[in-house]
Amino acid sequence: MIALTAPSSAEDDAYLNKICAEPAWSSYLGLWASCYHAYRVHGGNPWSIVGSKFPAALGTVQQKLYETRKSVTRFKNLRSQQVASCPMCGSSVTGTLDHFLPKETFPEFSVMAANLVPACTSCNSSVKGSTYKGESPEEWLIHPYFDTLANSDLWEIRIIQPYPAARFEAIPSSHHPPSVQKRIAFHLKYVLGEQFQRACTNAWATLPQYMRTMGPTAGPISVADIHAELIKLVSYHYITTGRNAWLAAFHRGLLEDLPAQAFVAAKATTLTRLAL
Ligand SMILES: [Zn+2]
Repeated sequence: MIALTAPSSAEDDAYLNKICAEPAWSSYLGLWASCYHAYRVHGGNPWSIVGSKFPAALGTVQQKLYETRKSVTRFKNLRSQQVASCPMCGSSVTGTLDHFLPKETFPEFSVMAANLVPACTSCNSSVKGSTYKGESPEEWLIHPYFDTLANSDLWEIRIIQPYPAARFEAIPSSHHPPSVQKRIAFHLKYVLGEQFQRACTNAWATLPQYMRTMGPTAGPISVADIHAELIKLVSYHYITTGRNAWLAAFHRGLLEDLPAQAFVAAKATTLTRLAL
């Protein structure tokens, strides 16, 4: 989850003008431009944006515009731009473009760059699917272009005991007001899938060996040793992947969890340091 600079509205408008220069679309420029305007005014909020006002048959054609044009330079550049982690879910991979408001429901935004977010394949397919809002107005996904929420800590991971077979829960950071926490919880629910659980399982299973290797060469590993290394890890994640990437949230959650740190310290103490 990363806040990104929104693509240029002038370029979006210019591209729309180009499409509407074609006879089939020429009478729809005004309507279409007003849809783009509403999207920007409401920051992509599906609770405020009225659904397509285009005839249904035209919506089907609009939806397909992206498929036929996804190889054009502007979309290729958007897809391949350098981001530290997936702006939607915080995984370490990107490489596809996700329609923030799904093109099936909002075909008029099919080729609007402001609605196309660089994302991982999971966000662009199975996990999030066509979800874009929930039951109440607080529940809609966090928009990388129009929300600045992701500039602060959004979430962290809670480790659920028993530690030898731990489970992992993603929870909103408590410093946000309740309505914002509700939105973050909705976002987490719909962007984190099985791969996220596997990444947590691996990070947890390998942490004692990491701490043994990075800590004192011999003797007990203390909770203070674990705490000091966690601070270094969190700092590293903030710099390399952003503060809301998976491992940043994982190690940040651990920083607040003394029993979990004690478990890691005890386990690390029994291990042998890896030769590096
Ligand atoms: Zn993702």
